[in-house]
Amino acid sequence: MKRRSFLKNSASAAILTGVAGCSQTSSGNEETGSQLTPGSGPYYHQGKSEGYKDFAIIEKGLRIKKIETFSKRDIALVKVSTDDGSSGWGQISTYNSDLAATVLHRNLAQIGWGKEPSEIDDLVDLCVEANLKYPWSYVNRALGGIDTALWDLYGQIQGKPVCELLGGEVKPVPIYGSSMSRAIKPDEEVQRMIRLRDENGITAFKYRIGKEASHNGDAWENRTEDMIATMGPALADTCALLADANSSYTPDRAIHYGRMLEESGVIQFEEPCPYWETEWIKEVSDTLAMDVSGGEQDNDIAKWRRMINSHTFDIIQPDPLYLGGITRTWRTALMANKMGIPCIPHSANHGMVTLFTLHLMRAIPNPGKYLEFSIETGGINDELMAMYSPALKIENGSLNLPAEPGWGITISKEWLEASDYQLSESAL
Ligand SMILES: [Mg+2]
Repeated sequence: MKRRSFLKNSASAAILTGVAGCSQTSSGNEETGSQLTPGSGPYYHQGKSEGYKDFAIIEKGLRIKKIETFSKRDIALVKVSTDDGSSGWGQISTYNSDLAATVLHRNLAQIGWGKEPSEIDDLVDLCVEANLKYPWSYVNRALGGIDTALWDLYGQIQGKPVCELLGGEVKPVPIYGSSMSRAIKPDEEVQRMIRLRDENGITAFKYRIGKEASHNGDAWENRTEDMIATMGPALADTCALLADANSSYTPDRAIHYGRMLEESGVIQFEEPCPYWETEWIKEVSDTLAMDVSGGEQDNDIAKWRRMINSHTFDIIQPDPLYLGGITRTWRTALMANKMGIPCIPHSANHGMVTLFTLHLMRAIPNPGKYLEFSIETGGINDELMAMYSPALKIENGSLNLPAEPGWGITISKEWLEASDYQLSESAL
């Protein structure tokens, strides 16, 4: 039974939500998290929740001196340096990354001047709140680059991987092989997943249904029906199966396909409805027995709080770089943890976002079972994998987590030389 159903049907619901840290009384609304008494609070800014402690990973006393970006159209790296010569590397979210790099230099960089790099919570909040007129896509994409560079900086200073700085343990993380393709035919999809299962020991896969934000469209007529009819019999006995609709359906069609997915052995249905239609998603997740997941595009942390408290999803999937970095993803995972909801940060390509998610999965208190790992080769993944070393490795269905300080990687000089360089530097 889903936890949500259990809560609805159990007399101990109020006790459980109380244990989970919700500030509700027995007559409060455990589904929405609304407060009983107007004006009584508590009121938490920017996704902080009860018991949240601001990070203090390094000593105070440094100042942010330089922020550099190295951009191509769809990939951009960020280097943050402090006045003692320490530095760390992060990444801006993929796609239109050159635009996000410009936003970083115009809207964010100067916010860091004179600030303590140790006080990342304050810095991240300032960057968002100073840009209240620009919610939140490009601001958070750019902020993700600064935040992840600061976490690497912390790791370099402390000589520890980020995972350990967050209280986690360096261990491989099980993955699910994630297909990104709606051009692939059902038989071809089965063949490549069987090959990856047998060669790499991967025991979970996700395939695509519907057509992205298509008002109930499909890649071609009956592709979704054929995918569901083919994937289950071929793989459900040996692998966990997941399906992703990328905002395809109205709730009626999502429930229709969701029931077909359930019958074919699929255990997780991702982004069934347009992601901005929160009530539609909840209608689907309340109706289906299977886990409904999503949230990769959601970059408003107050919306995250509402979606978590209303149990819109059974599993949340915030993207560390769409959402603005490790700090904000950490807060979001903690909010979900208080409601008993697992978190699988979204990582749909082989850039540093997969590293960030690896470290988070070994540190957050509520990781889901599998990290998303794209099974697509070529295109942006080749470019991303040429950007850093050592390469990530899959063994026995798990991805290795680098144990070196920070993100545990070295950035390619050749990649940097082929990028566009921009510098913001503090006069302080
Ligand atoms: Mg997805």
